[in-house]
Amino acid sequence: MEHNTAAARDESRQPTAHDLEVLSRQLGRPVRDVVEIPARCVCGNPLVAATAPRLSNGTPFPTTFYLTHPVITAAVSRLEAAGVMNTMNDELTSDAGLAAGYRAAHEDYLAAREAIGRRSGIGPVPEIDGVSAGGMPARVKCLHVLVGHSLAAGKGANPLGDRALEMISEWWTADKCYCDGAWDTSGEAPSRDLSRHGPQGLPDLVGRPAPMRKSAGSTGAAE
Ligand SMILES: [Zn+2]
Repeated sequence: MEHNTAAARDESRQPTAHDLEVLSRQLGRPVRDVVEIPARCVCGNPLVAATAPRLSNGTPFPTTFYLTHPVITAAVSRLEAAGVMNTMNDELTSDAGLAAGYRAAHEDYLAAREAIGRRSGIGPVPEIDGVSAGGMPARVKCLHVLVGHSLAAGKGANPLGDRALEMISEWWTADKCYCDGAWDTSGEAPSRDLSRHGPQGLPDLVGRPAPMRKSAGSTGAAE
């Protein structure tokens, strides 16, 4: 039984061609170096993509868990805009228990990334040893990273990611599908990389709603 569950989990981690297309539609750009889908909607669509710890061009890539579902990214952006990260940072300096839990989340992140590197055949990436993401282990710099981690690792791994998930429950909960209408499903999936992200990957894209795509007016005239 346990073995079957593990096997099913391994299978659902593998990104299918359909998953990669959905990811590119969710983000409005093609995705690269996605090696696993660590969290899915109840309907099966990806919520989070796991990027290889070393990209195919050789660049070390510390940010493993990338929140892709536009409903969740938008909801988390609302928290950021409301100043939730400031509150969390204040708490991290005054609450030793929370700070310890957050350091443990950092360690969990590193271990999860190492496991992904092992499963995907990439192996160790010494350049990013001890470097996680989102401001961990001591600060909160990107809530999307923490929520991506919480969704990938499950409840209990990241106290601040878990809390952010509770705070967005007005807009998204794990028990329901929010995919309908959340991204453009018409026309071809994005095939040109419009992102400008550097090796850290995040500032330009994670944390923002998927960019709107212009409808293909030039080729749609036949309709
Ligand atoms: Zn769904």
